[in-house]
Amino acid sequence: MDCIFCKIARSEIPAELLFENENIMAFRDINPLAPVHILIIPKKHIQGIDQLETYDLPLLAEMFAVAQKLARQNQIHETGYRVFVNSGPDADQQVPHLHVHLVGGAMLAKPC
Ligand code: AMP
Repeated sequence: MDCIFCKIARSEIPAELLFENENIMAFRDINPLAPVHILIIPKKHIQGIDQLETYDLPLLAEMFAVAQKLARQNQIHETGYRVFVNSGPDADQQVPHLHVHLVGGAMLAKPC
């Protein structure tokens, strides 16, 4: 499948990996919006929130638990951070593989 995040999950293209287990990977965003900008993905290809099935829901819990862990590791848990998912064209989802953004390390502008 020609999906850039699937290629990262298969180690076919490089990424600055921060976490990996059998289901999940986390790596630094190549174009960070803030001092800390990490993407957390399922290794399995899921296009986005709208394509999630009920049996995928434990993956979301796992992704949020990884976000919490990485926020602590990156020392942004006390100053605060934002965790978000873009879904579809109006949200400008650029990579059609589900990913949670973890952004922090600076005062963040409010999204719409
Ligand atoms: P979204 O707009 O929510 O789909 O976000 C996609 C994110 O993926 C953007 O913040 C990009 O900077 C990031 N991105 C795209 N390609 C890569 C890559 N090869 N490695 C790391 N981050 C990437």
